[in-house]
Amino acid sequence: MQTTPVTQSYRLVISTSIGEVREDVASGQKAFFAGRQFGAGEVISSFAAGEDHAAPSYLTVQLGDNQHIMLNPEYLQYINHSCNPNCFFDTTHLAVIALRDIACEEELSFFYPSSEWDMSQPFVCNCGSQQCLGIIQGAKYLSPQQAAAYRLNLYIAGKRNQEG
Ligand SMILES: [Zn+2]
Repeated sequence: MQTTPVTQSYRLVISTSIGEVREDVASGQKAFFAGRQFGAGEVISSFAAGEDHAAPSYLTVQLGDNQHIMLNPEYLQYINHSCNPNCFFDTTHLAVIALRDIACEEELSFFYPSSEWDMSQPFVCNCGSQQCLGIIQGAKYLSPQQAAAYRLNLYIAGKRNQEG
């Protein structure tokens, strides 16, 4: 669910053209690691809408009020949350974009509330970043200052404007 310290030992789960899914042997938590360098703004992967759901789950990405898709390719679901993310899931262009330069072997992460309005499974974040928000439960719950610090999807930004 969230980024993990790099000191743990991992086993390889899936090798892909953009990196590897590895499982933390101790916790069983999976994470996605870059297989090469990516430059800021680079499209790391495009994705398509897999199975479509009316309600969110921890595996879905939100495209609209009642549209929550499974990711295709599925391995993108192993990109975890961080409050200091290096990736952005652009749900307008259906692409995972590097927010900054990413080194080979760096864990990929994105900010869940950038695409999720009201999460089905809020969690306490332990990402360890200085700006960690603590409880992650969706864009609906961000303060204006918190929201301003992140790139949000158009759908999410529009919804905040409507409700704000
Ligand atoms: Zn955090």
